Amino acid sequence: MTYRGRFAPSPTGLLHFGSLAAAVGSWLCARHADGQWLVRVEDIDPPRQVPGSAQAILSALPAFGLVADLPALFQSKRQAAYDAAFERLRAADLVFPCWCSRAQLAGEEGIHRDGHCIAPPEPDRPPAWRLRVPDVTIAFDDALQGPQRQNLREAAGDFVIRRVEGYYAYQLACVVDDAFQQITEVVRGNDLLDSTPRQIWLQRCLGLPTPVYRHLPLALDEQGRKLSKSAQAHPVDPADPLPALRQVLAFLDVQTSAAASDVPALLASALERFDPVRLPPLAARPV
Ligand code: GLU
Repeated sequence: MTYRGRFAPSPTGLLHFGSLAAAVGSWLCARHADGQWLVRVEDIDPPRQVPGSAQAILSALPAFGLVADLPALFQSKRQAAYDAAFERLRAADLVFPCWCSRAQLAGEEGIHRDGHCIAPPEPDRPPAWRLRVPDVTIAFDDALQGPQRQNLREAAGDFVIRRVEGYYAYQLACVVDDAFQQITEVVRGNDLLDSTPRQIWLQRCLGLPTPVYRHLPLALDEQGRKLSKSAQAHPVDPADPLPALRQVLAFLDVQTSAAASDVPALLASALERFDPVRLPPLAARPV
């Protein structure tokens, strides 16, 4: 099967160092494997979106030499596919409507584990929809972070797949689209490592294939906090791409030629020396 990787930014701000690292890391893995590299805009959470940021991210990528093999897929246009997946889960009795409030779940650290809603139904108020999660342990080998195990009921419980506001949750949309785009390897930041068992479980519930996962070290700021797009921390400047690109390649321990003086030359020299097995197997590292 042809290797297919992807970069899946949420348009919650400008491209920043952490998302550029995910973009470059996934691009290098795809090109190294002679595969394809796709871009997917995860615009399914309107309240968190920053107007104009999807276009800003899409137009910044080519400035960093990152050109996708197909037009970008927008999750905002994929409602029918998420509806169909949701209906399949509902037909299999794997989901339930839930009116539980945050306060009701506070004693359980916000985790719902009952397999059914424990609050009285409120016909006048739309429910959230949760996936009924059994006592199951998901094990997988992350290509960079090594063997992983998570008891899904303990760690996530009956997680929300459709929110009260009617939006589908990231977990469901991501799984449906990774399958739709025929992604064979997911390369992304390590902050999503603990989402992966939920995604693998959803793949099993929906009869979808599980790609390989490779979680890159999370980029930390000077205070040891995650660089966050929403905080507008460390945006990268597409008008002056070389410094950020050099910094990202160094962050990923990718050697480059000192003679490379423009973006195409820098990326080509990185690709020549790149081997995914030499990526740093770290959970996080400072920028
Ligand atoms: N949209 C997510 C983000 O920007 C990434 C999703 C993924 O790579 O699975 O954090």
